Amino acid sequence: MKLTNLTRANEIGANSYWLDFGADGSVVLDSGMHPRIEGYSGTPLIDLIPKESLKAIFLTHAHHDHMGSMPILMRHQPQAPVFMTEGTHFLTTSLLHNSVEVMFKQKAEKGIPEFPLYTHKEIDRGIDRWWTCAIDRHWSLEGRPAQSEEPLTFKFHEAGHVLGSCAVELIHRGKRILYTGDINFKDQTLMKGAQLPEEGIDTLIIETTRGNHVSPPGFTREGEILRLAQGIEETFKNGGAVMIPAFALGKTQELLTSLHWLQRQNVIRKGTIYIGGLGRMLTLTYDKLCGRVRRSHPKLVMLEEIKHEIMDGRRLQGFRPRPGDIYLISSGMMTEKTLSNTLAQRLMADKRNSIFFVGYCDPDSPAGRLLATPKGERVCMDQSKDEDQPVNCRIDKFDMTAHAQREDILDYIVRLNPRVCLLVHGDPSASAWFQQELAVKRPEMQVILPPSGKAIEI
Ligand SMILES: [Zn+2]
Ligand SMILES: [Zn+2]
Repeated sequence: MKLTNLTRANEIGANSYWLDFGADGSVVLDSGMHPRIEGYSGTPLIDLIPKESLKAIFLTHAHHDHMGSMPILMRHQPQAPVFMTEGTHFLTTSLLHNSVEVMFKQKAEKGIPEFPLYTHKEIDRGIDRWWTCAIDRHWSLEGRPAQSEEPLTFKFHEAGHVLGSCAVELIHRGKRILYTGDINFKDQTLMKGAQLPEEGIDTLIIETTRGNHVSPPGFTREGEILRLAQGIEETFKNGGAVMIPAFALGKTQELLTSLHWLQRQNVIRKGTIYIGGLGRMLTLTYDKLCGRVRRSHPKLVMLEEIKHEIMDGRRLQGFRPRPGDIYLISSGMMTEKTLSNTLAQRLMADKRNSIFFVGYCDPDSPAGRLLATPKGERVCMDQSKDEDQPVNCRIDKFDMTAHAQREDILDYIVRLNPRVCLLVHGDPSASAWFQQELAVKRPEMQVILPPSGKAIEI
C-alpha cells in the first residue's frame, strides 16, 4: 500500500490522505479545508490523484478541516461514492451550504476572485453519490454488506468526537488499516467516548492534535465545567453578561446541554441562552437523531427543552447584551464579521461582562489576539478596519476539548501495538512528542510523520 498525505503541511490544516492499493484500487480519507487559508491554497493536494481513478472516498466527520473541500474532490472524481455515517450526512449538507454563503460574503468583502469554490447546486447534485453506512458493520465499496472474497472492504467505528464522527477501518486482503479521524476516548456531556478496535490493526493513522498540550494535575472535564459555572455566576452577580464563542458543530451542543444541567441544578441562575442560526440548525440535527445514535441524555430534545433565543445579524443591530444572559455564539475563533466577533466588540469595554473561551483558538485569529491581550489594554478585533478597542471585561479559557488527551492516545497506540503508526493532524511539535514517547515504549514500531505530497510505501 502507498500512502500520500495530501495535507499541504504537517499541521491540523486541510486533512486528506490518499491510500493506493495498486490493482485493488485507491481511496481517499477526508477532504478538508484549511481553517484559515482562503481559496484553493486552503485545499488538499487533490491534483496529485489521477482524475476519475478513486474507488471510494470516506468522510470521518462534518468539521470543516475534514470535509470543507469535498465538493472539489468529488468534481475531480465523479465516479467515486462517498461513505459516511447518517449524522455526518445531515451535518455536512447544512455546513457545506453554509460555506457557499460564507464564500459569497467573503468574495464581496475581500474580493477573492475564485470564491465560491463550489455552488449550492453542485452540493445538491453531489449528495446523490453519498452513502450512509452504519457503525460496526462490514461494508463493500459498492455500499453493500461485504462478501468475504472482496479484496477491499471497510467498517466504521465510534470516534466520540461530534455527532456522526467515526474512525474508518479498511480491510485489504486480510490486513487491517485504521484511520481515526478526530477522536475522544472520554465521555463528553453528550457524546460518549470512542470505541475503537483493540487488536489486529497492521497500520494505524492517528490524530495528534493535543500532542503539545499538558493537562494540569488533577484535571477533569467535570471540574472544568464547575469552574466555568463559577465564572458565569460571578459575572451575573456583578451585573454582567457572559459570552462563550463556540464552534457551531459540537461545542454549541455540548455547552448548551452542560449549561442546561447547571441551570436545572441551580448551580447557575436561569438566564436566557442565545445561540446562532447555524448553531440552531445543527442542534436540530442532534435532536432529530437523539434516539438513533450512541450518546448520553438520549431523550433530551435540546431545542424543545432548553430555554433559548436565536441571535442573528438582523437582531444584532442596536443590540445591547443583557446582564444575566449567556451568548453561546459562533464562530469559535471570532473570525472577522461573524456574530461572535461583532458581539464581543459590544461586550469588551464593560468590566462587568465576561468572555469565556472553550475551544482551540489560533494565535493569529481575533480570539487568539483577544486572549493574549492583558486587561486594560487595547486589541484590534477586525483587521480590515484600522481600530482597536479596550479590553476591560473578564477573559478566561476553559478546557472543553472534543479531542483525546495525548496520554490517552499514547496508551491506545501502545496497547494496540500496530506494525506501522502514522502521526497526522497535528503541529510538528505535537507529533514529535508521540514520536519520542513511542521510541521508548515501542522501539520496534515503525512510526512515521507522513510528509506532504510524497507517496510512502507501507
Ligand atoms: Zn473535528
Ligand atoms: Zn480535525
